[in-house]
Amino acid sequence: MPKKSIRFVDIKKKLNKEKLDRMNRGVAKKITCQVSKGMHDIIFDERKIFDKVMSEINNIGNFYGYEKIVPPIVEYADLFSHGLGKDSLTLKEMFSVKSIGDKNLVLRPEGAITMIRAYLEHNLAAFSQPVKVFYSGSYFKDKEEGNKEFYQAGFEIIGDDNTINDIEMIFLARTILSNVGIHNSTVELNSVGCPKCFKNYEKMLEKYYKEKSKKLCSVCKNNLKSNPLALFSCEDEKCKALRVDAPRITDFICVDCKGHLQTILRYLKDMKIPAEINPEISVDTNYYTRTIWRVVAEANNESKDKVVFAWGGRQDELIRLFSGQNKPVSGFVFDTDRLISFLRSQRIIDTKYRPPAFFLMPVGETAKRKSFEILEELRRNDIKVAFSFGKDSVRSQMKIADKIKARYILLFGQEEVGREEVILQETSSDLQENVSMNRLVKVLKNKIEKLNTIN
Ligand SMILES: [Zn+2]
Ligand SMILES: [Zn+2]
Repeated sequence: MPKKSIRFVDIKKKLNKEKLDRMNRGVAKKITCQVSKGMHDIIFDERKIFDKVMSEINNIGNFYGYEKIVPPIVEYADLFSHGLGKDSLTLKEMFSVKSIGDKNLVLRPEGAITMIRAYLEHNLAAFSQPVKVFYSGSYFKDKEEGNKEFYQAGFEIIGDDNTINDIEMIFLARTILSNVGIHNSTVELNSVGCPKCFKNYEKMLEKYYKEKSKKLCSVCKNNLKSNPLALFSCEDEKCKALRVDAPRITDFICVDCKGHLQTILRYLKDMKIPAEINPEISVDTNYYTRTIWRVVAEANNESKDKVVFAWGGRQDELIRLFSGQNKPVSGFVFDTDRLISFLRSQRIIDTKYRPPAFFLMPVGETAKRKSFEILEELRRNDIKVAFSFGKDSVRSQMKIADKIKARYILLFGQEEVGREEVILQETSSDLQENVSMNRLVKVLKNKIEKLNTIN
């Protein structure tokens, strides 16, 4: 017996020593309690805006009959290397996590390809076409300067060639913006041609840059072979000057591609949506064809900076890449991160906390037990109340009610519970009235109405 007890004491001592050592080294504080590099918690005001943006995206998707797909965060890497094109920046920045056999797993870098994977995997082609889907969530990059988690949403219409689908996409992107308070968005369009006409344009561009390519920046030099349209968005002053007289793709696209672009422009004009052709738009992925577009809005500050919130177009090559089938896709990506930081910096969404006008104040155990019943009754009627059940005395509860500037206190003890009533006290005047439980909701609703007219 004594032996056992000594051993027990020894282990306890050892554990305490280890714990102490850990604390002394500061391990617990420095390592455990820090978010990993490039990631961040969404909290406080940012969280309120985040919720608002996400719920608008969900509302609009659900309202217009889009099926939301929630794909896993981890996917096979070859899904994206097959779909993005070998020179795509998204592909180069994929965040790999593990290998299973000869298959690499990555954190999803983008959404459109996962939608197509789901469309083919769940045989959504068997449903009546087009199939409309949407997604929203976090995506990941592994860049030289560190990892990054970012938020995106996207919408896709699969299986219908009509240009009206492209208009629907632009309409949805603008509707999301206007629902969160951005009403001045405009549309910029360009074309990337189709496999038929893009080759001709590529030749023209190659010819144009033949003598000049030595003067291009290193990024543009690479892009000239893989993604020549990206040359038009380079910010390097030398590259800007070099491209002044470069041939524009819109002058070289085929009749079909031109018709597609003009139809969209005509629709937007009829719908009084401000739109213009911008030859500087390009896309990083190789699955876009014909017209590409983006929705931008100006900041309401002196800079009048244009912010790009959404971009999209025809993704007709996507399904062909995976299944060989000829199936049109129209879609867009929404940059929720950019929208949230814009809404914050422009103070477009009111994130001020408004405490409830009522404070529930039970005194004694019987009253506390009854409180939960009252809370539920009020919640069902959308009446918000504050409470602090951990505090016992009237005085300590009153302190909290004071702090949040409650307008009314709902006071009740054992006696009131027995009589099925509460004492309703106005804090500004200390006037009290006894209100029976079955009239409480009605009386509180009246008080809210009065408060609203005063405010
Ligand atoms: Zn074409
Ligand atoms: Zn450049």
